[in-house]
Amino acid sequence: MNQTAPRHYDNSFEVHDKDALARARALLDGARDFAAMGKAVTDAVQRNATWRGEQCVNLLAPEAPTSPGVRALLASEIGTRAAEGHIGPVNRWFAGTRHIDEVEALCVELLKRYFRCRYADHRMCASMIGNAVVYQALTEPGDVIMTVAQPLGGHSSNREIGPAGGRGLKIVDIPMDPVELTVDLESFRRVAPLVRPKVVTLGLSMTLFPLPVAEMKAIIAPWGGKLFFDGAHQLGLVGGRQFQDPLAEGADIMTGSAGKTFSGPQSGIIVWDDPSITEAVTTAVFPIWAATHQVNRVAALALATAEMLEFGETYMARIVANAQALAKALEARGIPMLGSHKGYTRTHQTIADVGSYGRGLAAAQKLERANIIVNKNLLPRDKPEDWDYPSGLRIGTIEVTRLGMGPKEMERIADFMADIVVKGTDPEKLKPAVLEFRQPFQKVYYCFEHGLPAV
Ligand SMILES: *Cc1c(COP(=O)(O)O)cnc(C)c1O
Repeated sequence: MNQTAPRHYDNSFEVHDKDALARARALLDGARDFAAMGKAVTDAVQRNATWRGEQCVNLLAPEAPTSPGVRALLASEIGTRAAEGHIGPVNRWFAGTRHIDEVEALCVELLKRYFRCRYADHRMCASMIGNAVVYQALTEPGDVIMTVAQPLGGHSSNREIGPAGGRGLKIVDIPMDPVELTVDLESFRRVAPLVRPKVVTLGLSMTLFPLPVAEMKAIIAPWGGKLFFDGAHQLGLVGGRQFQDPLAEGADIMTGSAGKTFSGPQSGIIVWDDPSITEAVTTAVFPIWAATHQVNRVAALALATAEMLEFGETYMARIVANAQALAKALEARGIPMLGSHKGYTRTHQTIADVGSYGRGLAAAQKLERANIIVNKNLLPRDKPEDWDYPSGLRIGTIEVTRLGMGPKEMERIADFMADIVVKGTDPEKLKPAVLEFRQPFQKVYYCFEHGLPAV
C-alpha cells in the first residue's frame, strides 16, 4: 500500500482556514516520501526565520526575540526528560531528576529575585494556563468575578469564552474610563459592593497606563475579595521597575507571559506573597494544569530571568522610551494616537486609531506587504463583535528595542508607517527601503552574549 496516497477528506466542519489546510494537503500529496513531508515543515520554518527573523520590522506587542543562549537551551537534551510533579526527589513520580531539580529550583529562585516576591511557579506552558490555575485555586464554579471587557483591553482568558468561563464563573465588567484608559474608580466603588466579587482581575492586553491596584484592593477587602493582576504584557516592565509593582501595591497574585516584555521563552509564570494561598495555587498547577512541563523551556526561562536581572532595568526603560517616541512621531504624521493627553503610554505599547484610514485589518495587511508587522486592535468605541474589523492598531516596541534601535529609528519607522497608512503609498514600492533600514539590525542585545547596544 502506498502510505503517502491521499485519503478522502471531508473538512466541512473545520474551523481553521480551509484554503490553508488544502494547500498543506496538496504539499503532502505531492511529496515523494515521508522525508519530503518532513522537509516541507523545516522549509516553512526556515522561510519564517528569514522573513520575520531578518527582514521584518516586527512591532507585535506580545512577542520578543530571545537571546542565543535561551534559544540553545530550548533545543537542549534536558527537554527530552520527563519530570512531573513538584521539585525534589520525593515529590517526583520519576527517578533521575536530580539535575532537573537543580535547574527548576534555580528557575524558581531567580524568578523570586526578579519579582521581589516570596513564591513563584514556573510550570505553565502559557500564561493562559496560569490564569486557569488562579481561577482553579481561588474560586468555585458559580462564583462572581469582575474583569475587563475586550474592547477596553481585556483578555479572553478572563472572560466567558476563556478559562474563567470554563471554570463556570459569573463575570461582571469592571467599569473603565474609555478616555483615561484606566479603571473608572468611582463606578467601581459603587458596583463592587453590590456583586461582592470573589476575585477582581486586572488583566489588559491593550495596556498603556498603570491601574489603581491599591484602591481596588481596599474596596474589595471587606468581604475577602482577592485582587488578581494578570500582567501578561507588563511582566518584564514590573520586574525591571518601569511599571507599577502590583504585589507591592496589594495584589494577591500576579500571572504573566514569559514571552512578552519579559523576553524569554513563550510560557507562563505565577508569583505571589501570601502563604495562605500557596498550597491551593501550587496544587492547581500540578496535578491539574501541568504534568510534563517542558524542562528545556524551564531552563530557558531561568536563563532569561538572569538576563533580566542583569539588563532588565535598562532594557525595559528603553522599550518604554521607544514606545513614547514612536507614538509621538506617528501622531506628528497625522495618525491619531490613544492617550496622547497623558503622554501616550507608560508601557511597550502604543495604540493608533486608524478608523479614518480604512480600519485596523486593512492597515495591518498593507503594512505587512511592506514587511512591517502590527496587529489590528479593538478600540474602546468598538463592539466585541467588531473583532475582525476593529478601528485600531496595536504597536509594540519590544523587538525593535532588543535589536538595538532607539528614538532615531522610531522616526524612520513612523515615516514608513505614515507613508502607507496616511499617504497611501504602494507597500511593494516601500518594501525595499524597509528592508534596507532593517538590514543592519540583526543582533539581539540585553543578553550575556552581546551586552548593551551602542544607542
Ligand atoms: C497574552 C495575554 C494572556 C495570555 O498569555 P499567553 O502566554 O499567550 O497564554 C493572558 N492575559 C493577557 C492580559 C494577555 O494579554
